[in-house]
Amino acid sequence: MEEWQYQMQNHVDNLEKLKEFINITPEEKEAIETLHTRWGTTPYFASLMDRDDPACPIRKQVIPSLKEKENRYGIENYLVYKENRSNEEKRPDTIARQYYDRIAFTVMNTCANYCRHCFRKELVVDKSLQLHFDIDQGLEWIREHSEIRDVLVTGGDPLLLSDEKIEYIVRKLREIPHIQMIRFGSRLPVVLPQRITAKLQKVLGGFHKVPIWLNTQCNHAKEITEQTARAVYDLLSCGVNVGNQAVLLKGINDDLKSFKDLHQKLLTIRIRPYYVFYNEPAPGIDHFRTPIEKGAELIRDSLRGHTTGLAQPMYVVATNIGKIPLMPDYYIINRGEKEYTLKNYKGQLTTLPNIPE
Ligand SMILES: *Cc1c(COP(=O)(O)O)cnc(C)c1O
Ligand code: SF4
Repeated sequence: MEEWQYQMQNHVDNLEKLKEFINITPEEKEAIETLHTRWGTTPYFASLMDRDDPACPIRKQVIPSLKEKENRYGIENYLVYKENRSNEEKRPDTIARQYYDRIAFTVMNTCANYCRHCFRKELVVDKSLQLHFDIDQGLEWIREHSEIRDVLVTGGDPLLLSDEKIEYIVRKLREIPHIQMIRFGSRLPVVLPQRITAKLQKVLGGFHKVPIWLNTQCNHAKEITEQTARAVYDLLSCGVNVGNQAVLLKGINDDLKSFKDLHQKLLTIRIRPYYVFYNEPAPGIDHFRTPIEKGAELIRDSLRGHTTGLAQPMYVVATNIGKIPLMPDYYIINRGEKEYTLKNYKGQLTTLPNIPE
């Protein structure tokens, strides 16, 4: 058995195992015993939790909370609504479409870490949304839609599929003439870096006409270790580009220091920040929710101008009509007839001539 398979078979998903890693608080214990929610993580990710601090950013993403019962802002059947599953053209379950030229290809519903903030809880945690994961049917749909040039393979976590299945998906997609790029959305470089094996590198790697991009999810600098650094290096070395899609999480990364540290540290292990997502209105995750403006404020006050340009993600909210940017908009303070007045991160002003069309 490979190390990553061992990690999955020894999933930390009961109190007994959890005790090996942390001193469980009475609240955590009650949540685990009464909520009957699927939860769990890899022994590797569990080992990064703080033994004594229940406010540990990793602990909060792993261990259920009684606050998951609250639901003031969440929309029931959120995924069906968000992915337009009930009201649009008929598509295979595996295909979620919001754009003309690209789709999300949902190939499975297992994860290595059942993130407490997940907006796809219906699919991966409760499994109340049952999708039929027929990969060949999905591939057939993609083959028939010549306008699709970019396929985002997602889940659950698609890299939990066997090497053989991943190889099959990649090979079949590359055989479709209109596919120009393949993307994977996978949290494994962070929660199970052992998955990036030499064999997987062979499957994903190489100089191909159809490149592979991988976006992972890292929400706090504490999640970044030597192992993750190595996994990312191995992916890049074989030709896979690596980006990050963080989620803005109250009490985890919504303060200036955590937000800046996260984005700077990602660059030190060669991950390019891509998106920061506003927490979507799915049920049971109100306690992770911030005001909508929060992400823009954090970018304005901790990243833009304050640190390396490459550390800047795009702040967006993913909605039923696609992703919508929510970036800070303080830069143009006056649009004069002759000139525009612009403001920088320090509040200094400058002007630029207004050029008519
Ligand atoms: C997020 C998403 C994409 C990819 O969006 P990009 O902005 O290109 O990264 C494509 N399709 C669906 C359904 C999505 O949710
Ligand atoms: S890895 Fe992704 S899909 Fe799985 S629980 Fe976490 S956020 Fe949800």
